[in-house]
Amino acid sequence: MNFALVTGGSRGIGRAVSLNLAEMGFYILVNYRNNLAEAETTLALIREKGSDGELMPFDVASQEEVERALGKWQTAHEGEYISVVVNNAGIRKDALLMWMKNEEWNEVINTNLHSFLYVTRFLLKDMLLKRWGRIINVVSLSGLKGLPGQANYSAAKAGVIGATKALAQEVAKKNVTVNAVAPGFIKTDMTSDLDEGQLKTMIPAGRFGNPEEVAAVVSFLASRQASYVTGAVINVNGGLYT
Ligand code: NAP
Repeated sequence: MNFALVTGGSRGIGRAVSLNLAEMGFYILVNYRNNLAEAETTLALIREKGSDGELMPFDVASQEEVERALGKWQTAHEGEYISVVVNNAGIRKDALLMWMKNEEWNEVINTNLHSFLYVTRFLLKDMLLKRWGRIINVVSLSGLKGLPGQANYSAAKAGVIGATKALAQEVAKKNVTVNAVAPGFIKTDMTSDLDEGQLKTMIPAGRFGNPEEVAAVVSFLASRQASYVTGAVINVNGGLYT
């Protein structure tokens, strides 16, 4: 069986990614933090696709929780490994830097950037030993371009982009690829407070994207066909920034 972990798989982009990977035949470990009902819906939809999976709640920002949950899974699955990880869980807490509180900075950095270290480092050893793995990081237009009001989020996502490029070079010889997908404005709970009517005028495609449009790129990067793509950052933003 091929196992894929999707952090933040309960909703939004993570749900769409989980369903696509399920269609590709992966058994999906659906991580989430609080939202059991949404995570259960994702799992039910995975089963409708004819695949299977399990829920794996932990806070990606907590090294202890990450290692406890993944360690427990490893112990129960001797000889098997998680060959695909999609580091997707993320939050935003926007504020102008002048008014930004330490907590707003730290929570966003911990959840979006430190999580990459905790989750990826834990899973990497098995990918290297088995000589095949796919690490896919969901970053953001904000981490490439910088967006006002998002210094914390832009810094976190830019950090993951740098780490993606560095790690890609560390592990390329072992058939482990490391890539990032950078969405623009995508219709999910995270953007439900934004004014699409106003913002879409800036987007060449004239609309927000759908989670499925991001998931399609993630699926490609997870596939065997993507074997020579590594260290890449692929924009999915309707032409907003290239
Ligand atoms: P979303 O709809 O708000 O969903 C966020 C997901 O992350 C949920 O599954 C949530 O779990 C999970 N999560 C949040 N904090 C977590 C934590 N500490 N530990 C474990 N899980 C946690 O967000 P989305 O729009 O799908 O965003 C997914 C990713 O895409 C994020 O990294 C985001 O930064 C990035 N992105 C989004 C957009 C966009 O326009 N939507 C644009 C660029 C980049 P619960 O359900 O349990 O809360």
